Amino acid sequence: MQGADRLMQGLKDKFPHLPEEVSGLRELAYNLWWSWHPEGRGLFKLLNRQGWYLSNHNPVKMLNRMDRSSLEEAAANPHFMRHYHSVMARFESYMNPKSGWFCDRAAFPERCRVAYFSAEYGLHHALPFYAGGLGFLAGDFLKECSDLGIPVVAVGFMYPQGYLRQMVSPDGWQVGACEMLDRENAPIRKMVDARGDPVTVKVPIMDPPIYLEVWEVLVGKTSLYLIDTSSEANEPWNRVISDRLYTGDIEQRLRQEIVLGIGGVRVLRHLGLDYSAIHLNEGHPAFAVLERIRESVEAGMSYQDAFELVRSSTVFTTHTPVPAGHDVFTFQLMDKYFGTYLPTLDLSRDELFRLGMSPARPDGFNMTAFALRSSAFRNAVSAKHGEISRKMWQQLWPEFSVDRVPIEHITNGVHVPTWIDRRLGDEIFNRYLGRTWLEEHDLPAVWEPIDDIPDKVIWEHHRSMKEMLIAKIRERARLKWRKAGSDPNNVMASGVLLDPAALTLGFARRFASYKRPTLLLQDMARLARIVSDPWRPVQIIFAGKAHQDDQQSKQLLQQVFSAAKDQSFGGRIAFVEDYDELLAQYLVHGVDVWVNNPQPPMEASGTSGMKATLNGVPQLSVLDGWWIEGYNGKNGWAIEGADGPDRDAKDAAAIYDLLEKDIVPLYYDVDEDGVSHGWTAVMKETIRMTGPNFSARRMAKEYAERFYLPALAAAMRAGPGTDRGGGKVDLFGGI
Ligand SMILES: *Cc1c(COP(=O)(O)O)cnc(C)c1O
Repeated sequence: MQGADRLMQGLKDKFPHLPEEVSGLRELAYNLWWSWHPEGRGLFKLLNRQGWYLSNHNPVKMLNRMDRSSLEEAAANPHFMRHYHSVMARFESYMNPKSGWFCDRAAFPERCRVAYFSAEYGLHHALPFYAGGLGFLAGDFLKECSDLGIPVVAVGFMYPQGYLRQMVSPDGWQVGACEMLDRENAPIRKMVDARGDPVTVKVPIMDPPIYLEVWEVLVGKTSLYLIDTSSEANEPWNRVISDRLYTGDIEQRLRQEIVLGIGGVRVLRHLGLDYSAIHLNEGHPAFAVLERIRESVEAGMSYQDAFELVRSSTVFTTHTPVPAGHDVFTFQLMDKYFGTYLPTLDLSRDELFRLGMSPARPDGFNMTAFALRSSAFRNAVSAKHGEISRKMWQQLWPEFSVDRVPIEHITNGVHVPTWIDRRLGDEIFNRYLGRTWLEEHDLPAVWEPIDDIPDKVIWEHHRSMKEMLIAKIRERARLKWRKAGSDPNNVMASGVLLDPAALTLGFARRFASYKRPTLLLQDMARLARIVSDPWRPVQIIFAGKAHQDDQQSKQLLQQVFSAAKDQSFGGRIAFVEDYDELLAQYLVHGVDVWVNNPQPPMEASGTSGMKATLNGVPQLSVLDGWWIEGYNGKNGWAIEGADGPDRDAKDAAAIYDLLEKDIVPLYYDVDEDGVSHGWTAVMKETIRMTGPNFSARRMAKEYAERFYLPALAAAMRAGPGTDRGGGKVDLFGGI
């Protein structure tokens, strides 16, 4: 059965109370298309404004809670039905599989897809399958592939209990509460077979074997399949394999990666979803390479030929220079799991271990080394990260000079329809840039008329966004205050005294030591002077989670929290709990300056700053990651990043200098019309550069042109299948 039929069948039993006249809402609710198309969200809002907010913008939950009579009422309302038909028409035309940039430039048979594997996806706050940047990068990429018609099918994990809701105790310690995903009320669907039983896929490599169930998330035209180990068919201790993202237990982590890589390939095979090339987003899913080789060997190919074939159609993206980001498994553990599997590939233990050898750290099987050796297309995620990665991994290509090590770079980007403030787009860009700006946002020419936007328009729009952000933060604080047991100090620390008129800095990201979340607090006395200036006040909003097992980062969070509670800052420093996609939206739209101060060169790219600059929020950042490419002297501020033992003190001083000498005076240099024209000039520069250079569109086009097209072509040449003649095994058409 084809994917689409299966889906229709599976959705039939959803929303049994939905009247026939509006039955399209079924398909619409279960496709995240609505999450980046305002007209889709608008339709649900029109249907039930209160329900939309109470469900936290989740149409599945909202529709499940609505009763039949109110749905019938809507179906009888001509105003609603007019909107309904127009939105459904746009949805259907969007979903046309033959439309899109990619389809116009390449004609491959339908089975020529790229399978995209990632351990996390950040798509929407209703689907918390992410920890941070890697997930949002993957989520933004899937949406963009859908927009461009790049044929991708994606695989990931269902983390039934793995999402951390952050709370902070009165003494500033992060206490996590894991939130169970309410699967029946989420825009995901369990895959069932023709009889209606859950699809079950076996991962044989483990003893006892593990059975996987599969959930489907529709991301526009792209399908994402999430692996779920919680099946009752599994032993209780095996059900929890996918419970938590990035567990610190190394054996559990190996088991997760076996399930993701090997299990993921089996899932696609089981679903009958063919693909010709594979993209490993970071090293976690790299065991997929082995399972692809095994399939070819089983079909009669020699190991060597199979390896070459798989390698020629594998794309690998490395995402971090931080050592903890590269998994290394002991040989003993590897033996325990791969002992009986390797003979089915015709691969010896020595050969496998050689593929995962890192000469610089030869004490185990290194997933990054393995992925680099098993892929023909390899990239880092910014120009600087490319340099660092070539240096880091020259050990695998000792015959090459550093600059010739075969790791290229494709700089990350963000999905513009997801991260743009809708009013900025609809009311301002549509008017001054022309209505095609969104469709053509990666063309520099589209942004040329940016100077036509009157300064006052952009300044006042931003001011209203800042007011919305602060209102949101206060509302959260109020809810907390009402909860019995909330400490008044905590309520104060969470931003109740924020002032929409003050220059507002935002620092929001995962709390990890290399990101230096406490750098701004280096010199508390100087900071207090800056924030408390009665004429030109400055406020700072912090947000972010520490990994549950990372005590050091929790201490950093505690320091930030204690500054937020410190009366001497007068409530101008805030820590907002539970940073997630929704809060990120408010922050990147509403703060005045986005602050980023990692310890170079540890930030491979960073993407949150791009979300900010897209919305006219300039960055103050260390020159690291994407900012080395983004900063041009007119679109924000940069510090070099010092070396040596007192580098934190030096970097902090450089930031205070910039604030005192440049940023604060510029912001408050307001003319008679109430606008700082110097500031709006910087805002316009940030907007101008982001679409063409740091959009997911630019990024996805690069992946498609530089990697996917040649990888697909290589697969077509090597696996001719029935349509290309030749006696070779058809590796990619399903065996
Ligand atoms: C974009 C985003 C990130 C990644 O931000 P970095 O710049 O890589 O730190 C993390 N979390 C959320 C919620 C995001 O939206």
